[in-house]
Amino acid sequence: MNTDIRTVCDSNLCTGCKACENVCRKNAVEVIDNLDSYSAVIDSSKCVDCGLCSKACPNISPVELHKPFYWAQGWTEPDIRKNSSSGGAASELIRTFIEMGGYVASCLFENGDIRFVLTNDLERAKKFAGSKYVKSNPGNIYNEVNECLKKGEKVLFIGLPCQSAALLNICKDNKNLYTADLICHGTPSKKILDSYLKDKGIDINSIKDLKFRDNNSFGLIVDGRRLAPKKAPDNYIWAFLKCSDYTENCYHCRYATSERVSDITLGDAWGQLSDTDEDGVSLILCQTDKGRYLYGRAMMYSTDVDVVKAKNSNPQLNYPTGKPAEREVLMSKLKEGGSLDAAVKKAYPKQNLKRAVKTILIKMSIIKDN
Ligand SMILES: Cc1cc2nc3c(=O)[nH]c(=O)nc-3n(C[C@H](O)[C@H](O)[C@H](O)COP(=O)(O)OP(=O)(O)OC[C@H]3O[C@@H](n4cnc5c(N)ncnc54)[C@H](O)[C@@H]3O)c2cc1C
Repeated sequence: MNTDIRTVCDSNLCTGCKACENVCRKNAVEVIDNLDSYSAVIDSSKCVDCGLCSKACPNISPVELHKPFYWAQGWTEPDIRKNSSSGGAASELIRTFIEMGGYVASCLFENGDIRFVLTNDLERAKKFAGSKYVKSNPGNIYNEVNECLKKGEKVLFIGLPCQSAALLNICKDNKNLYTADLICHGTPSKKILDSYLKDKGIDINSIKDLKFRDNNSFGLIVDGRRLAPKKAPDNYIWAFLKCSDYTENCYHCRYATSERVSDITLGDAWGQLSDTDEDGVSLILCQTDKGRYLYGRAMMYSTDVDVVKAKNSNPQLNYPTGKPAEREVLMSKLKEGGSLDAAVKKAYPKQNLKRAVKTILIKMSIIKDN
């Protein structure tokens, strides 16, 4: 690596949250996607050493973590739940918050991008529903939220823990800011998704609707069409579930702990009702009075949680995802310009063959796919 290159945090550990890009008044920082890692590169000819980028960075700035004092599992009404990934807790919080007169910042799929948007329009906010298993693009969202808060508006931010931490570094101690983070086991660069779809003859820019999961069944669904059988999901989701294509920072995530950065944390109630309820059940953790107040306003059917089981079944409430031994082979194939199909085949030859056979048996209706 060229040692003359200056970066905001360690070059291979950048989360890609873009907080540094948002706060830099001189346009001196650019977050570079290297496929297997991100780097926030500083242009020394523009930099005035103001230090704003370091203060905003969720990797190097001190962050306050809070212990959850309330745990629940639950789901919302069927119309919302059917479009959501788990029990629809996020979508229900969004609906509640907008009806209370607030704005929501979260991410949606639009024009080939998975980007953050700030809105108080209930119809537009419905597009937030669904987990996007890829690094989302915060764009200029922290500045937009900051401006909205300055006008005295209330804002709910829902994102990954590193993104939530970035926002909290920028809008410190704002009583009108509510934050929710997702339990996150890691995210791949969006370049992997783009090129995977391209290899399948799909231009991501032409897609109207993209889903990564239909309740408890994982797999890419493009404009209503599932790319692979439920029992043998496509290689994009398979590599994601194998945790082998995340950017380097995810394997060192400081937010993968049961003490959380946001007011509320949302995930899947694995080890609880989610294991048996096909429609999806949310796990909800409240860390602050604000979070508990907001959850209390939401219309959710809630039941108790076995906290020990919840922590055991959601490892990212304890530690970051481990890096699989196969990742190096997979990533080097991708970085050479190989397809994800070829990279998975090389990194996981036996499992790949097994899945290929299973796919054929499903297509011949010898194995049922439900
Ligand atoms: C990359 C990723 C990894 C995850 N890993 C785990 C895990 O290991 N264990 C676990 O229990 N749960 C995990 N989750 C959370 C889980 O998939 C659900 O998103 C969560 O339970 C919320 O479901 P819901 O039905 O309440 O939300 P929905 O009503 O479906 O709404 C989803 C909300 O999440 C936001 N969102 C979706 N994708 C992203 C993204 N890429 N970046 C920022 N915000 C996003 C949406 O904008 C929306 O606000 C992960 C989510 C993501 C995106």
